[in-house]
Amino acid sequence: MEHYHKAVEAILNAQALVITAGAGMGVDSGLPDFRGPKGFWRAYPLYERLGLNFVEMANPVHFERDPAFGWGFYGHRLEMYRKTEPHRGFHILKDWINRYGVDYFVVTSNVDGHFQKAGYTEEKVYEIHGSIHYLQCIKPCCNDIWENNEDVPVDYETMRALRIPKCKHCGDVARPNILMFGDWSWVGDRTYAQGKRYRRFLEEVRGKRMVVIELGAGTAVPSIRHTSESLIRSHGATLIRINPRESQVPSGQISIPEGALKALSKLDELLKKVA
Ligand SMILES: [Zn+2]
Repeated sequence: MEHYHKAVEAILNAQALVITAGAGMGVDSGLPDFRGPKGFWRAYPLYERLGLNFVEMANPVHFERDPAFGWGFYGHRLEMYRKTEPHRGFHILKDWINRYGVDYFVVTSNVDGHFQKAGYTEEKVYEIHGSIHYLQCIKPCCNDIWENNEDVPVDYETMRALRIPKCKHCGDVARPNILMFGDWSWVGDRTYAQGKRYRRFLEEVRGKRMVVIELGAGTAVPSIRHTSESLIRSHGATLIRINPRESQVPSGQISIPEGALKALSKLDELLKKVA
């Protein structure tokens, strides 16, 4: 319980809040856990039969070689992310921001758009790996990024898309504006603009007491953990790392070895008792 009380104290004293989130944040909304080949193959048995893991499927090569196969994976995820409601933890964090009047920013490696879906303003979210809700040209013929309003039905027997979104400029295949593995054709302009807003925020809150709440960010793709830890050095931030499996923290920081929703609910309960 001691770590919970330390976290409560830090949140109550915070003047700026950075929420950093990895794949574990979505698990409590009911999204599948892709971490490790077993988690990925439990969600996608066909890919296990084909011997393809997450890194191999999240790869732009499929859009070039066999767009229906590439879109099979992303079409399924698109529908899943659209259908799924972000869990209550997203709203708990938003309540704190409003209740305590702290300035904030969200940094996430998730491409599901669930912070925006939970009501966070687009100007306060930095999606470091892009978003499934935006499209770009596969070549790309130009740097345009546009909203993904397409339906991409998938035949779940073969995991092949029955319709393939097209580039609205050249008519070639359009792909999700997601930074994939080994990806040289990703158009980063939307993410770069978000990153610019994030860095401006970091300048504005310099000298303020900053708390970083990190949720479900593992060591497999460590970019979110690096982001959190860099703020300890650059802004003297206090890190609250919420992670059921990889909760180790740099010395002096706060570790809560629980899932996101459980930990946030518990913190909310404690916060409501004191303020
Ligand atoms: Zn094009």
